[in-house]
Amino acid sequence: MLTCTVHHTHNGGLNPDPSIAYATVPSPDGSCKTALQESSDFREVFEVVRRSVKELLGVERRGLELYLRELPLHVGAFHRIGTNIIVMNRTLIDLIVESQASISEIKSFIYSILLHEYLHSLGVYDELQVRRLTYQISRQTLGEDHPATILAENGPWTILNRPSASRSSRRI
Ligand SMILES: [Zn+2]
Repeated sequence: MLTCTVHHTHNGGLNPDPSIAYATVPSPDGSCKTALQESSDFREVFEVVRRSVKELLGVERRGLELYLRELPLHVGAFHRIGTNIIVMNRTLIDLIVESQASISEIKSFIYSILLHEYLHSLGVYDELQVRRLTYQISRQTLGEDHPATILAENGPWTILNRPSASRSSRRI
């Protein structure tokens, strides 16, 4: 189950990670599904998130910055109301990268988490509504069988609680 924290307080102690800084480059042509497949970092996954929302809801927000930070494992990411930042949980991402999740699943997880927080940043604060929208947007822009849609339906945390299938070599 996705636990999300929307903070109302301000925090000045965050250091930007240049590798995930917000990009102003235009989105490439092609579907969101292809763009997600070809994405190679957080910034590019976030671009796909922004495109997905724009295609489905017709709204977008520019100027958001992404940060990575070590957080408790039950927190995927958070957006602080009144700020332009989204913070992702570095500890959790590391854990998923070390799990048996495929690259596609890892990107889908990041997509799902960022989409959730991006919707908060657009002013949707109701958790149930955000989860519903995350599922609908994933399904319509990526397809019903896409890992991101499945994660949105079952909860992103299911990526850590499922039998091995994606990788042949298992980390011991
Ligand atoms: Zn939330």
